Amino acid sequence: MPVAGARVVVPLGPRKLTGVVVGEVSAADNSYKLKNILQVLDAGAFVPPDVIKLTQWVSDYYLAGPGATLSTALPPHGLTSRVDRFKTVRMVTLTAAGLDAVDRLTAHPRCAGDDDRSDGPTLGAKQKQALQILKGLPAGLSAPALAERGIAAASVTRLTTLGYVAVREERVDRDPFEHAVGAQRPDLDTARRPLTDEQQAAMTMLTPLAAARAFHVALIHGVTGSGKTEVYLRLADEVRQSGRGVLMLVPEIALTPQVAALFRARFGAAVAIQHSGLSDGERHDQWHRIRRGDVDVVIGTRSAVFAPLSNPGLIIVDEEHDTSYKQDETPRYHGRDVAIMRGKFAGALVVIGSATPTLESYANALAGRYSLVTLNRRVLDRPMAQVQVVNMREEIAAAGAEVVLSRALREAIKVRLAEGQQSLILLNRRGFATSVLCRQCGASLECPNCSVTLTVHSNQGLPSRPVPRRLGEGGSAEREGWRGRCHYCNFTKLVPKACEQCAAPYMERIGFGTERVEAEIREAFPAARVARVDRDTVRRKGSLVEILEKVAGREIDVLIGTQMIAKGHDFPECTLVGVISADVGLGLADFRSAERTFQLLTQVAGRAGRGERPGQAIIQSLVPEHYSVRLACDQDYRAFYEKEVEFRRAMRYPPQVAMVNVVVRGKTFNEAIDGAHDLAAATRGGRGFVVLGPAPAPLTKLRGEHRAQFFLKGTSRKAMREALQLALSRKPELAKRLSVDVDPLSML
Ligand code: ADP
Ligand code: ZN
Repeated sequence: MPVAGARVVVPLGPRKLTGVVVGEVSAADNSYKLKNILQVLDAGAFVPPDVIKLTQWVSDYYLAGPGATLSTALPPHGLTSRVDRFKTVRMVTLTAAGLDAVDRLTAHPRCAGDDDRSDGPTLGAKQKQALQILKGLPAGLSAPALAERGIAAASVTRLTTLGYVAVREERVDRDPFEHAVGAQRPDLDTARRPLTDEQQAAMTMLTPLAAARAFHVALIHGVTGSGKTEVYLRLADEVRQSGRGVLMLVPEIALTPQVAALFRARFGAAVAIQHSGLSDGERHDQWHRIRRGDVDVVIGTRSAVFAPLSNPGLIIVDEEHDTSYKQDETPRYHGRDVAIMRGKFAGALVVIGSATPTLESYANALAGRYSLVTLNRRVLDRPMAQVQVVNMREEIAAAGAEVVLSRALREAIKVRLAEGQQSLILLNRRGFATSVLCRQCGASLECPNCSVTLTVHSNQGLPSRPVPRRLGEGGSAEREGWRGRCHYCNFTKLVPKACEQCAAPYMERIGFGTERVEAEIREAFPAARVARVDRDTVRRKGSLVEILEKVAGREIDVLIGTQMIAKGHDFPECTLVGVISADVGLGLADFRSAERTFQLLTQVAGRAGRGERPGQAIIQSLVPEHYSVRLACDQDYRAFYEKEVEFRRAMRYPPQVAMVNVVVRGKTFNEAIDGAHDLAAATRGGRGFVVLGPAPAPLTKLRGEHRAQFFLKGTSRKAMREALQLALSRKPELAKRLSVDVDPLSML
């Protein structure tokens, strides 16, 4: 019998499929129709048994199919092929005969080999050069590396025939670090600098917890720039030396390359990296390196929580508040919560850290379920950024409704440019305009597949001159290339010059996004070197890294972007952060909108003044009195927490209760809402939870499908899970039109 975690070939109807053994049932058990395994592919476990156990927990907790869950834990091609797909390279080394030939060449540089004397066969110049190169390299050189030095394959072939060199295929691991920002920076080894008092206190508390070899969770609440990473590094070092592995989750590697680079600098080749931006080949190789036990530190995004690392003793979740830890397709797991479960199974210390912890985590810490470590001060007594709020209602009164840059922000950017310092400008909305609207009949441009309006983007980069407000004025929309795009399904079309409903030529742009901010800044500061980071500009692989490298190399003066630029970057030269509109998220029908806004503003303000010079943040808002804006400006997490948790308690929202969001899709709205009614009715009636709805989902139509939703809300997740499982078993026909989101982060 194969062990759990081994791959096997099994019959499924007429087909043969590869699967993974998750457990055993007795042959006498007749609740299954059993068939024989055709072939066992692995003698031992391919997927480690504790990872199998973790995926089973995920599939149970999140009500997701075991197959879909298990596949998130597999490497690329994990099941499609028996042969693991390593990349190989041809390594060329000198033989003993080749060594003799080089010695002769060196002894008689002018004559050796180039005449018919008894010393040996004639060699061409390139062949001689190849021998010289290889002489100093006992491990040899790869054929591509030789080619780079002008030695073609033909020369190698001839040398092989003469017996001067040997060629063998060698496996190479594709290394995603080769191209990472900062991967080669020499100043990263900071292991010997003294810790701050707060860092030291954190170590005093965490070291015994790590050494205890028992499950425990600690939350590090450390303000931006307080040096959390150094604490992670030192703990990781201790755990490695005790012989256990370290797993570190980060929101997005491309956005926080410095963290990965720091770990590489400290621990060298023992670090593996795993994230979805890698090529299949890279991911495959990294997975197998970890599985072989070649590494003891794994850094990766969400799915790295399933990395086949044996015996993890420390699991770190950096920026635990980041929403990218939640997967928005089946299985809809939260990387932080799965990390905590993994720590529980492994008897490991789990350290989660943030400057703006989620209410859930902070509540757990206050309740004593997690240890709480607080870092209140920035390292080296650097001051927090000084934050100023600009009331945009006053700016609009002074400069008109079209104003994007307030006077204060404009002035502050100007000062930075004059002093050669960098500015970071945030607007969490991409595109040029939010939508277009016909001034005559009010029609807007809508997505045919989704219930949203199309966002306006400029077609060919940015227009070179100021853009008229009305698209009909001064040049056709086609020539200027305005394009409406759906941010959900990517449907696009050119923005028409005249309204499609009433033919009036008054299509007006409403609202603005990052493209517009870029245009305004280029216009206001023509000499500034400007770059923009949002999902539109970083579509091409590597382009984000390129931009960030330019920022780090001070080739950019003003960086504009969406929340991508608010994440953990450490730009020491940035002394100004501007927020164009703090209110973008506040209008959303989501009980977490205040928390999101507070987190985003606090995080982005934390990007300023991380170097020698103090920083300033300017936050523009139409509602400066809103508590999430006000308390972010005060950088007062605790006050925000108290206020927000009170609101959640009053409204019975998480963390007070748990929620499950169930969306039923349909070809028509009736089909969707009828299905939702049936399922909700079958779910109702249990103890410990209520069922709310069904109702049309906020996005009633998405990618051509209609959607209705209902919620389960209560204190017993177990009761909710069991009720839903039972309801689903009664309505199996709905399974294909359903998504279940346990602990949803978005209510859409
Ligand atoms: P956080 O993740 O808490 O926002 P970082 O870990 O990025 O903060 O640290 C902020 C900056 O302080 C980094 O540039 C880091 O190199 C530096 N730093 C951290 N610890 C120390 C220390 N003990 N002494 C000097 N500089 C430090
Ligand atoms: Zn759409």
